[in-house]
Amino acid sequence: MKILVPVKRVIDYNAKPRVKADGTGVDLANVKMSMNPFDEIAVEEAIRLKEKGVATEVIAVSIGVAKAQETLRTSLAMGADRAILIQTDEEVEPLALAKLLAKVQEEEGAGLIILGKQAIDDDSNQTGQMLAALLNLPQGTFASKVEVEGDSVSVTREVDGGLETVKLSTPAIITTDLRLNEPRYASLPNIMKAKSKPLAQKTPADYGVDIGARLETLKVVEPPKRTAGVKVADVDELVAKLKAMGVAA
Ligand code: AMP
Repeated sequence: MKILVPVKRVIDYNAKPRVKADGTGVDLANVKMSMNPFDEIAVEEAIRLKEKGVATEVIAVSIGVAKAQETLRTSLAMGADRAILIQTDEEVEPLALAKLLAKVQEEEGAGLIILGKQAIDDDSNQTGQMLAALLNLPQGTFASKVEVEGDSVSVTREVDGGLETVKLSTPAIITTDLRLNEPRYASLPNIMKAKSKPLAQKTPADYGVDIGARLETLKVVEPPKRTAGVKVADVDELVAKLKAMGVAA
């Protein structure tokens, strides 16, 4: 069974995003970029399934700028077998991403597609669900445990009330939650080996998908700055202040 893992290049989770002066988006100049953390978890899970003998091949795919190759090389260094870059300088919305990934799946016929539950830059949390709808495949979202048994896969999901386990027939779509696993670091020898693993270069046109934007971003603003707090001498003063603010009776 093949496993397809879509990985996105995003601003590193430690970097502080800056909004462009004209308010049209986030300034990516000279900002550290990394693989979306949920996608690292997805790559790790796919590799573990290969190590267990469940999967035969792990294919990482990224849609984005030429530099997304670095993200794909990271997946190859972690243990993916080959990679596909669908290169574009346009910002691609979840529906168009899902259409492209559906085309890749038509060619690859993977038994599992493991995505992150969300990209930490746009926080859309849509691509996996849209892909499942387009391909008419079962989906197990927010996975904290994945167990493949023959032609089906049990996915334990993190839901508000606790944990829910669903059994899906393969091929199936899974999206990862934080607690699924702890991704490995790529070792230096594996980083070197990854340089010679296959990386196919494609464009959205190769798949005949229109990636034109359907959403218009009106404005991007920084979150409001937190105002400084006030120190109080004792509980009485605190209660008096809360009463004065009208938040305590
Ligand atoms: P989102 O729906 O944008 O929150 O993204 C959910 C998941 O879809 C991510 O964790 C990735 O697995 C996948 N994904 C999103 N954008 C891309 C991209 N540009 N290239 C490859 N995979 C992506």
